[in-house]
Amino acid sequence: MECPKCCGLMYMERLTDFFVIFNVWKCINCGALMDKTIIENHQKSLDALETVGSASG
Ligand SMILES: [Zn+2]
Repeated sequence: MECPKCCGLMYMERLTDFFVIFNVWKCINCGALMDKTIIENHQKSLDALETVGSASG
């Protein structure tokens, strides 16, 4: 896993939100957090950009 912001190394960290336990990717370099939802949303936005095409460049 590579940090989308700084291309640093990311590691899996376990967080707890009240009674929910979930894993996120955390960058050891800049501290950015990436969870599964964020990654999926990012993929969707990338797909949207590809379908929009060359309106700007
Ligand atoms: Zn980073």
